Amino acid sequence: MVKFDVFPEILPHVKYIWSIFLRHVETSDLLNEIDLTIGHGERSDIKISGDFHKCIEGRKYDHQSMFRDVPLFLTESGKPDYLGTAFYLINSLQEYDSDLEDKFGRFPYEASLQSRFECSTENLVVDYFRALFEQTSQLKSGLKWKDLPSGIFISHDIDLIRGALYEEGVWAIKKGRFDILLSLIWMEFISDPYWLNIDQIMNINDEHDVKSTFFWLVRNGKARLNGQEISNANYHFKSPSIQNTIQKVSHRGFFNGLHKSISTDSIQDEISQFQDAPEINRNHYLLMQLPNHYHQIEESGIKLDCTLGFAPYHGFRNSYGLPFQPFNMFEKRPYRFVEVPLHLMDATFRGYHFLEAEQAERIMIEFIESNQTNCLISVLWHNNFFSNYKYAPWLNVYKRVLMTCREMGLKSWNPRDIIENYLTNGGN
Ligand SMILES: [Zn+2]
Repeated sequence: MVKFDVFPEILPHVKYIWSIFLRHVETSDLLNEIDLTIGHGERSDIKISGDFHKCIEGRKYDHQSMFRDVPLFLTESGKPDYLGTAFYLINSLQEYDSDLEDKFGRFPYEASLQSRFECSTENLVVDYFRALFEQTSQLKSGLKWKDLPSGIFISHDIDLIRGALYEEGVWAIKKGRFDILLSLIWMEFISDPYWLNIDQIMNINDEHDVKSTFFWLVRNGKARLNGQEISNANYHFKSPSIQNTIQKVSHRGFFNGLHKSISTDSIQDEISQFQDAPEINRNHYLLMQLPNHYHQIEESGIKLDCTLGFAPYHGFRNSYGLPFQPFNMFEKRPYRFVEVPLHLMDATFRGYHFLEAEQAERIMIEFIESNQTNCLISVLWHNNFFSNYKYAPWLNVYKRVLMTCREMGLKSWNPRDIIENYLTNGGN
């Protein structure tokens, strides 16, 4: 019997994180025979710290005042509170009352505890769960720790369809490849631009048994954000070529999702533009504020959101590698959707760190190699990086990443698999 001896106001939080912990343990009937207390007392087998209680009850979430030397809540006698800390990390509570913003209005990576403790590439929650298991004799003697096999989740944000003639054309001129320039011009002329390459992307993915997800922007043109101009799509969502492509994606067993634009439209407004309402979303620019974003996602009926990643840095924005249902702090229950954290994005390496493709490849492979368990590695590759010309080295990186994943035996997950496995009670 597991007994929860905690203040009633945080009982739902503790039960929630305990249920996530149990995913990592080979549970059996033995769990019912084990006597275990999870509580605030120093004699509890698993300890919940006063600091965690204060954090939740006082709604004070700033990591600077929460953690001193390590990102870990400690009890008054200095014992680790792994469950409380896991709850705090998984739900990105550090972002809840932060008014720090980068130039796009996002929670800045530099302000995060992942940056402060240099732990962005550590699946810290799993490390804490494992330590909890190892240090709790009742668990260790009767049950077995379970490392879940890692998988991959591949997706493509479709921001740019037009623009190849300029970018690839300049490249072709520099290389003296006027044959390529002419073919780019021809493609524009027949309204089949080079970056409308979704078929090619699906062909490559099919070679690796990957049914990926394409995120579409329904709004185009410029939007104003924090006093600056930002581009939404440079294509028309309603145009026949885009609509036909979206149909083709689903006919071939791939997936379409909403790429929520920078606008005052609600997610529902944007979903209503689709012929078949998508259940999947990622926000353009990964722009969101927590917890508002989670409220909006739930209200819209979206079942899978893929926005939780740091654009300027790869790794774990919430220090946890697997999909999860975030916890609604106001209603004290899990939200009715699954969040799939984003780990690796082409633009992080090229746009933020100005790396060469080969350098990015090394970092990505190293990340994948060190996360062969307990992680659904989420990779975002934009369609314009599937180019045989200017971005050809980046296409090669993508292919080698897929090959590496395959050699390691990582299964490719699609949104349907994820919802089935990670949304409890069908989200009701
Ligand atoms: Zn985008």
